[in-house]
Parts: sequence; C-alpha cells; structure tokens
Amino acid sequence: MVAEDCIFCSILSGKVDADFLYRDEQVAAFWDKRPAAPLHILVVPVKHIASVNEAEEEDAQLLGRLILVARQMAYEQGVAERGYRLVLNVGLEGGQSVYHIHLHLIAGRRLPVFHN
Ligand code: AMP
Repeated sequence: MVAEDCIFCSILSGKVDADFLYRDEQVAAFWDKRPAAPLHILVVPVKHIASVNEAEEEDAQLLGRLILVARQMAYEQGVAERGYRLVLNVGLEGGQSVYHIHLHLIAGRRLPVFHN
C-alpha cells in the first residue's frame, strides 16, 4: 500500500533519497533530515498508515515491530544503555507533520522530563 503525495512512501519506494539504517519487508529506519538531538532516527512501517488514528487491529504486530526495530537501532548506535526517547506524534495538536506513522528515536543528550 503506497499513498500518493506521501513523503515517506516516496522514500520507501526510492523516489526520494534518505539515509537508511535498516530495511526489511515490514519496517524501515532512516535518519531524520532535521535532527532534534545528536541521534534522531525515524522508524516507519512500509505499509502506509496515516496515523495511529487510522491503525487497525490487524496492524498490532506491525506497530510492535516499530518499537523492536527502534530498540535494535538504539543498540546498534550505542545509545541503548544510556537511554533514549521513542516518540509517536498523532494529529495536529500532537505535532504530527508527516501523515505516515513513524516512531522517532531520539537520543544523545539528556532530554527534559515530562513531569515534575
Ligand atoms: P512528525 O512531526 O512527528 O510528523 O515528524 C516528521 C519528521 O519527519 C520530522 O522530524 C522531519 O524532520 C522528518 N522528515 C520530513 N521529511 C523528511 C525526509 N525527506 N527525510 C527525512 N526526514 C524527514
């Protein structure tokens, strides 16, 4: 499933360049082009799912794999032990700008806590 006018579908199909770290039949990971931290990787399903709001029950295993691939990237990049943040933005007020589900793997600096 590929969506027209989806930048991540274009990356996954090779129409737009990206710096890939990982790719299998279901999931890919590439560097974010505007990193918010020293390490900023996007982990995306090959299947086009616009956001968590559009995910179906049948996507549960795929969504779980995003987390496991992100963890693998964290280990491979040497940040797993120090820690990292996995972020999944949903919708306008959630800060989502690309409507193809993606998990941000952010690391390499001390991130602010959400609570105090
Ligand atoms: P979000 O705001 O959660 O939808 O995150 C979208 C992310 O995609 C942002 O961090 C962008 O910097 C990143 N991004 C957008 N276009 C590209 C691209 N062509 N290659 C790599 N990262 C991109």
